[in-house]
Amino acid sequence: MAKKPGLRATFSPKTLPKDGDGNHIHNQILLDLPREEREMLFPKLEFVRLKTHHVLHEPGDTLKSAYFCNTGLVSILSVFPDGKSVEVGLVGKEGFVGLPLVAGFRTAPTRAIAQIEATAFRVDSETLMAILPQCPKLERRLQQFSQVSAMQVTQIAACSRLHEVNERLARWLLMSADRIGSNSVSLTQELLGQMLGTRRSSVTVAAGVLQKAGLITYSRGEVEITDRKMLEEASCECYGIMQRQVKEWQGSSV
Ligand SMILES: [Zn+2]
Repeated sequence: MAKKPGLRATFSPKTLPKDGDGNHIHNQILLDLPREEREMLFPKLEFVRLKTHHVLHEPGDTLKSAYFCNTGLVSILSVFPDGKSVEVGLVGKEGFVGLPLVAGFRTAPTRAIAQIEATAFRVDSETLMAILPQCPKLERRLQQFSQVSAMQVTQIAACSRLHEVNERLARWLLMSADRIGSNSVSLTQELLGQMLGTRRSSVTVAAGVLQKAGLITYSRGEVEITDRKMLEEASCECYGIMQRQVKEWQGSSV
């Protein structure tokens, strides 16, 4: 298969680096890297567009590539043998898909799927693992993202067990909006049910409650957050707990 053009980034301090097609880099891990690490890593990256429902990996797959998410949203799902699945993580421009590689593990324990149309910078696994020892900042940022993801998985597990669908839907919408940097989130209720691990009818009722309270509008697979502050109040405390933890870690990061 012919390779798409790799990243030919420019390093002007006044402009965000772009890929060969002129696409801006939004991924926060890539943007944080010092110049010498950018120069080492960026030529190895390949810009990819991921259609909705594109599967990046399935449980048990050998991780051939890793992805620095750039726009859109990738869901991390726990998948059961009977085909049922539930979302355990959400990755947007702040993150990375392929975390086992950072610890030297080569297989995926989860499914990663583009939940809405996304773009990412893909890197070959072998290349990433070879480059990591020479890129201490990249390695540290990936370790930190791994820790943040683990914290979120823990919180989401507790949330699914203890909190009501309305609160969880509000939490999920806030998390999604943060990751895509927009108050409009495209999704179907069927997908939302899967994300929240609940029946589609429960999601319909929950979305109706939030809409009636004037916090969101929902039509034709598009949710618009109309009152963010109130939506935060309608969410369970899990959203705030995760936000505060990330902020606390970022403030004390070395
Ligand atoms: Zn919760």
